[in-house]
Amino acid sequence: MFYQWVSDNLNVAGQAVQEYWSHCEGLEFFSRLNLKKEDYATCIPVYWHMDGVKVYKNQKAWIYSFCSATRKGLSTGTKLVFTLVRDTIVQKHSTHDEIAKRIGYCMSVLETGRFPHVDEYGRPFPQSSAQASRAGSCYAGGWTARFAGFKADWEGRVVAHKFERNYSAHNICEKCSATRANFGNFNDDAAYMGTRRSFDEYVHSCSARRLSAWVNVRGWCPDRNLEDLLHVLHQGVAMVAIASCLCEDLEEKDPHQTLAQLEKRMGEELWNSYKSWCAAHRKTPCSHRFNLARLGREQWNAFPEMGSTYKGAVIKDMIYWSAAYLWQQQGTTPGSNLRCHAMHALATFQKRLTRTLVFLTGEWQERPPTMREFSCCFTSA
Ligand SMILES: [Zn+2]
Repeated sequence: MFYQWVSDNLNVAGQAVQEYWSHCEGLEFFSRLNLKKEDYATCIPVYWHMDGVKVYKNQKAWIYSFCSATRKGLSTGTKLVFTLVRDTIVQKHSTHDEIAKRIGYCMSVLETGRFPHVDEYGRPFPQSSAQASRAGSCYAGGWTARFAGFKADWEGRVVAHKFERNYSAHNICEKCSATRANFGNFNDDAAYMGTRRSFDEYVHSCSARRLSAWVNVRGWCPDRNLEDLLHVLHQGVAMVAIASCLCEDLEEKDPHQTLAQLEKRMGEELWNSYKSWCAAHRKTPCSHRFNLARLGREQWNAFPEMGSTYKGAVIKDMIYWSAAYLWQQQGTTPGSNLRCHAMHALATFQKRLTRTLVFLTGEWQERPPTMREFSCCFTSA
C-alpha cells in the first residue's frame, strides 16, 4: 500500500525515487536539501499543490494537497489532501503563510523519517504523552521524504508566495527579469535570457513583508514552482490545438461553406464521431455538444479555442479522440496529413507524460532542447 503511493510500479519504488533524485543532482534546490547519495533510494520526493476551487455556487475554497513526484495517474489514487480553507475566512497573506509554515514543519519531520520530539511551535511534547513516547522512532521503516516541487496556477502562486513579480505585473516572471514587453521573445538573445535569479538573490531582493513563507520549507525556491500538466497542456496548448485542427479540417471539406453550415458539421459529424469514440473506449462523454461558440469560431477571423466549458479531464480524452478522428481524415483534404501528425504528436506526448517519466531520450538527454526546439516538436513531428 505504501509503495503504491510512492511509485507507479511498487516493485521498483526504491529505484524510481533513486532515479528521480539522481536527475536532480546539480540543481540549486537539490544542493539545499542535503540529501546523501546512499539515502536516494529511501527518500520520497514530495510535490505540493494548491488551487482555489469553486465548491458551491459562488463559494470558493483553497485546497492544499501533496503527492509523490514519482507517481502518475488519477488524482484520487495518487494525491492526499493536506488542508482545505474557505476563501471567506482567509486573511490576506497570514493564512497562507501559516499553512506554509506548517508544511515546513511537516517536511522537517518527514526528512528525518522519525516521529518528532517537538510540536510545530518547537515545544517538547508532555513527558507522559503518546507523542513523547514514540519520538525518535521510525514511522515508515526508515523511509524519509523531501520537498521536490510546488505547483499552482498563476493566481495561486501570487496568493501563496506574495510575489511582486507575477502574471498581472509589468515584471511578469517570478523566476527572471522578463517583462510584459519582452516575454514573448523566444530567441536565445532575448533580454531576459540568463537573468534567472538564485534563491539567495530572490531572498535579498524581497522585503521581509513580501518574502514567501515557503522559505520555511527546506528546498523550496522560486525555481521549484513547477508547471503542471493541467494548466499547461489540458487547459492551455491542447485547447487551442484541438479546436484549430478540427475547425481547419471541417473548413477544408468545403471552402465555400457558411458559418451556419460549419456549425451543423460540428454538431453532427464531429459530435457523433466524439460520442461513438467515447462509447467504444468506455469514456464518459462531455454533454456540451460542439458549436461555433464552444470552439471559438463565431467569426471567420477568430482564432479557434475550446471554451472553458470543457474541463481538463474532458480535454485529456479529446486529445486522443481528435488524434483518432484526424487519422481517419488523412488524404481527404489539403493539410489533412499535417493536422493528423500534429495531433498524433500531442497524443503521444500526453501518453508518455502520464504513463512514464521518461520522454526526453537519446540526444536530448545529453543536451536539453532550447525553448524554440521544444515548441517545434509539436509542429514538425
Ligand atoms: Zn522567466
